[in-house]
Amino acid sequence: MSEPMSQPIQDQTDAALIEGLTTPSPRQRRAKPPLHWADASEEERATIIAELGLPKFRLGQVNGHYFSRYEADPASWSDLPLTARDALCAWFPTLQDLVTNVSADRGTTIKSLYRMFDGVLVECVVMRYGLRHDLTPGKNGIRSTLCVSSQAGCGIGCPFCATGQAGLTRNLSGGEITEQIRLAAALLEGGNVPGGPGRLNNIVYMGMGEPLANYDAVMGSVRAAVEGFGISARGITVSTSGLVPRIADLAREGLPLTLAVSLHAPDNELRDELVPINRRWPVGQVLDAARAYFEVTGRRVSIEYALMRDINDQAERAIMLGRELNSRGRGWVHVNLIPLNPTPGSKWTASRRADEAEFVRRLELARVPVTIRDTRGSDIDGACGQLAARHSES
Ligand code: SAH
Ligand code: SF4
Repeated sequence: MSEPMSQPIQDQTDAALIEGLTTPSPRQRRAKPPLHWADASEEERATIIAELGLPKFRLGQVNGHYFSRYEADPASWSDLPLTARDALCAWFPTLQDLVTNVSADRGTTIKSLYRMFDGVLVECVVMRYGLRHDLTPGKNGIRSTLCVSSQAGCGIGCPFCATGQAGLTRNLSGGEITEQIRLAAALLEGGNVPGGPGRLNNIVYMGMGEPLANYDAVMGSVRAAVEGFGISARGITVSTSGLVPRIADLAREGLPLTLAVSLHAPDNELRDELVPINRRWPVGQVLDAARAYFEVTGRRVSIEYALMRDINDQAERAIMLGRELNSRGRGWVHVNLIPLNPTPGSKWTASRRADEAEFVRRLELARVPVTIRDTRGSDIDGACGQLAARHSES
C-alpha cells in the first residue's frame, strides 16, 4: 500500500486523512508539473496577457486557439505577432507525451496512455456511442465520452482495482487533466474515430485516481471544460469512493455536475474491505452526503456497484441496498451495476449471469432504477489503471 495510507485510518483527523490522500510521495514532491495556460483561471489569464505586455484582445485569440481549436503550440498561431508567440510559448509546455493508443470495439473505444513530464504513466479513454452496425451514425446521432484520470495512481487502495494496487504516485495538475480533455476533443474533431468528426459531449472522472482527493485541480479542469471547451456541466460526472466532506464541497460549487458514488457494498463489514476509506466515512454517512448532494443540486446521484462473484452479488445484498437507498427517499438515485473487469492475478472476478440478473430483479422489485454498464474496452485492459499498470511492469 502507498505511503500516505500507512497510518491507520481511524487514528487520523479528516484534514490529515485528506491531506494524506493528496500529498505526493517525497520523491515526487520535488517535481511539479510546469505551469500551463490551462492551470490559470480566466482572471489569471488576463493578467498573464497584461504582464506579457500584450493588448487585451489577445486573450480571446489565445483562448480561441486553445479552447475552440484545441491547438497548444503558439509557434503556429500566425494571427499573433512573432514576439507574442515567443512569449506565450512558456505558458504552453508539453505536459504529456503519447506512449500508445489502443483501440477496441471496432475503433469506437480508444484508450490513450501518456507519459507525464516526470515519467509517470496516466491513461484516459474516449468512447463513441450511437453508431449502427456498419459504423455509420444512428438516427439519434453520435455522442462521445471521455474517461479522465485525476491522479497518477490512487491512495484509497480498493483491492479489486488496478490503480489502487500501486498506491498514489502524485496528484495531476489542473493543466494535466485539462490537457487530457483537449487531446480527446482534438482526436474526435480530427475524425480519428469511426462516425466521423464530432464533439466531445461527456466527461467522466472515472480514470485513475480519486478525484475528490485532488479537489482543486479537478475543479480547475471542470471549469476549463465548461467555460473553455463549452461542455455542458450536466454532461460531466465526478466519481468518488466517498470523501464525505468533499461531496459537500462539490454540492456548494453551484454546478449541475453528476455525482457518482462507488458504493460496491451496502454494509460496512464488506465495504470496509472493498473500499477502505469506508472505515472513516461509512455507508450511512456516504449515502447521507449523496442524498444531500441531490437536495442541493437536483441532480440524480449514480451509485456505482461493481458486481463481484460471491463477494457482493448476493440477493440479500441487493435487498439491503434497495432498503438503504429507499430509506432516504425515492427518485434521488439510480444504481449502475458494473460487471467486474478482473485485474491480472487477483481473486476477484465477475458475477455469474444468473446472479447478476437476480441482483437486478431484486432492485427492480424495490423500485430502484438500475442499469448495467456496458463493458467498453474490456479487451484492452478496460478497468481503470490496467493499461498503465501493465506498462509500468514492462
Ligand atoms: N476513484 C474514483 C474514480 C475512479 S474509479 C472511484 O473509485 O469512484 C471509477 C470506477 O471504476 C469506480 O466505480 C471503481 O470502483 C470502478 N472500478 C475500479 N476497478 C474496477 C474493476 N476492476 N472492474 C470494474 N470496475 C472497477
Ligand atoms: Fe482509487 Fe477508485 Fe481504484 Fe478505489 S476504485 S483504488 S478509489 S481509483
